[in-house]
Formats: sequence, structure tokens, C-alpha cells
Amino acid sequence: MKGNSQKTILVTGGAGYIGSHMCVELLQTGHQVVVLDDLSNSNPKSLQAVERITQKTLTFVEGDIRDTRILTNLFETHNFSAVLHFAGLKAVGESVEHPVQYYDVNVNGTLKLVDAMAAAACKTLVFSSSATVYGIPEQMPISECSPTAAINPYGRSKLMVEEVLRDLYASDPTWRISLLRYFNPVGAHASGEIGEDPHDVPNNLMPFISQVAVGRRDQLNVFGDDYGTPDGTGVRDYIHVVDLAKGHLKALQHLADTPKLAIHNLGTGNGYSVMDAINAFERASGRKIPYQVVERRAGDAATSYADPRKANQELGWQAEYDLERMCADAWRWQSNYPNGFRD
Ligand code: NAD
Ligand code: UDP
Repeated sequence: MKGNSQKTILVTGGAGYIGSHMCVELLQTGHQVVVLDDLSNSNPKSLQAVERITQKTLTFVEGDIRDTRILTNLFETHNFSAVLHFAGLKAVGESVEHPVQYYDVNVNGTLKLVDAMAAAACKTLVFSSSATVYGIPEQMPISECSPTAAINPYGRSKLMVEEVLRDLYASDPTWRISLLRYFNPVGAHASGEIGEDPHDVPNNLMPFISQVAVGRRDQLNVFGDDYGTPDGTGVRDYIHVVDLAKGHLKALQHLADTPKLAIHNLGTGNGYSVMDAINAFERASGRKIPYQVVERRAGDAATSYADPRKANQELGWQAEYDLERMCADAWRWQSNYPNGFRD
């Protein structure tokens, strides 16, 4: 039987880092939540923690977004008002080694999902895109009009999905599609009960720093200190994961007004260097972060930060939390659960 709530949201990849924070915000704003996740990069304990934080329950379906049978069954069982599509593979280096797998999960998986949505006449979709679609940007800050130029299979898979969704909207303008280009999501829920829990060695700066702080890793490698930035290290726009999740709620409201395809950057507009991040984490944790400077990482931009004005003007959204708060919340999670959800 179809669920009768008009506010049931399907969250693909909802057990993951960003998805689990999204589930908290959705449940706290009165939505019903169904999560579809194959747990390839997450642990179901994240969803138990979401239920503890919110004192509400959600429905979890373990499965692959490429599995048409599961998708059909889900859309027959529930009356989804929207889909928030987080499920995907996200490691740049791995995408270079396994491009076909990346295109299969990220692109083919999205095709299967929108097919099932169309069949069920559920045409509201928020897609997790990334600032990586801007490649090595020439001008700062990066606005939504900046040229796109992905430089690795992961980035290309995000751009391909964006193009697929634009074509879909052009063919049927009753769709409501939001492409959210995230800058660098970091931090954790203030409860310290959910946070980033990479299965492998972290590729990203903040989870690596946080694992050094807690003693799981000896030291951080700083990838280059000879960039044309104030201290020579790479500059990024770190955004608190809870601010990011709140941006999705605003995007859903924006889609509710009229059918559209909208593109928004989700960033703070502030750039911080690797050294800024190390220093802020040391203050938040009271721990020393040993580091050594090594070669630049191939394909890294010197600087990347958002022009967030479009999201501010059109969605009425603005990031609230600063770098200190991002580090404090990340540290609360990491120090509560030094081994993440395996504890
Ligand atoms: P994550 O790996 O923590 O979450 C992704 C979730 O999707 C995981 O729970 C994983 O098990 C699940 N998943 C993977 N393949 C699946 C499949 N075939 N079927 C069902 N579930 C599957 O990653 P995250 O950081 O939460 O990222 C969420 C989304 O945001 C991804 O699409 C990612 O590309 C995008 N994004 C992330 C960042 C970032 O820095 N974290 C930046 C920009 C964009
Ligand atoms: N970085 C680093 N050491 C690491 C991981 C990242 O010095 O172990 C640097 C990286 O070169 C970049 C910044 O930290 O300047 C952010 O990197 P991350 O991978 O988190 O984000 P992205 O480069 O994908 O925006």
C-alpha cells in the first residue's frame, strides 16, 4: 500500500556522511524519511544514531540504486514527494583507477533512479553535485556561471549527471530539479553522535587531520606549500555539514514554488588554507597536529571558494558556522568515537 504522507522523502546514500546529517534535518522538520543505501561506504549505526538524536524513526532499505527491482518496489510502496540523491562514489584517486565503476554508480545509477521516479510521477530531485565540476578555476570567487571543466572521472561523472538532468528537464519541464554544487563539507552534528567515518585512509584534509589528532595516524602530509596563496598551502571553502544539509531544505522549498532546474553553489564564500585548518583544529582539540610538507597532489587547484550569493538570494540560505565551530564539532565526534562507527 502506498504511504499517504505527502512529505515522505527518499534519501539515497542516507547512511553516509552528508546523507545522515540530512536525515536529522528532515526528521526534525517533520518529514518522513526512507533511506536507500548499499552500505558500501557507510555503517547502519549512523542511522541508529540519527534516530537517537531526533527521537524519531526512519525506514532503511539496504540496496543498490542501480537495482531496478528495488527502486520499483520502493516507489510502489511509498508516495515520495521528493528524492535527495546522495548515493555515489566520491574518491577522486579511485575514480582514476576505476573509471567504469564510477560512471556506472554515479551516472548509470542516476539514470536508473530518474527512470523509476518518472514511472512513479515523482519529479522532484535534489542532486549532490560538487565544486569539482569547475576544474581548476581561473577566477575567484566561483559563481554558478563560471566555466565547468572537470579534470578526472569523478568530476566528469558529476558533470555528466548535471547534463543528463538538464536534458531531462528540457524534455519535460514539469520536473523540479536542484543541482547543488558543494564546496568542502566538514564538521559533524553538534551531538557528536554522527560524523564523517571514511572506510579507508581519508583522501580529504579534515578527516585526515582529525584522525591524526585522535592518534589513529602519525602525521599529516601537506600537499605543497609553494602555491600562490598567502601561506603557500591550498585554499578551500570549508562548509559545515549541518549548514549544507539546511541548504537542501531551502532547495526543496524553492522547488516547491514552480517547476524548474536550478543550480546553486553551497559554500561559505570564505577560503582557508591547509595551515589555517591545522591551526583551527589544534585550537579545537587541544592536540598538536604533526605534519610534513610533501609534493603537490596532482590535479589540485591552488584556491577554490564559492560565490554563495545566488543561494542566498534565491534560496534564502546562508552558511552560519565558522571554521572554529566546524573543527569543534568534528573533534567532538572523533573524540567520542575514535574508530568511527566501528567502536
Ligand atoms: P559517503 O560515501 O559518506 O555517502 C555516500 C553513500 O552512498 C554511502 O553511504 C554509500 O554506502 C552509498 N552508496 C554508494 N554507492 C551506492 C549504490 N550504488 N547504491 C546505494 N548506495 C550507495 O559520501 P558523502 O560525503 O556523504 O557524499 C554524498 C554525496 O555528496 C556524494 O554523491 C558525493 O559525490 C557528493 N559530494 C561530496 C563531497 C564531500 O566532500 N563529502 C563534496 C561534493 C559532493
Ligand atoms: N590536503 C593536504 N593533505 C591531505 C589532504 C588534502 O594537504 O592529506 C590539501 C589539498 O591539497 C587541498 C586541501 O588540503 O589544498 C583540501 O583537500 P581536500 O582533498 O579535502 O579537498 P579538495 O582538494 O577535493 O577540494
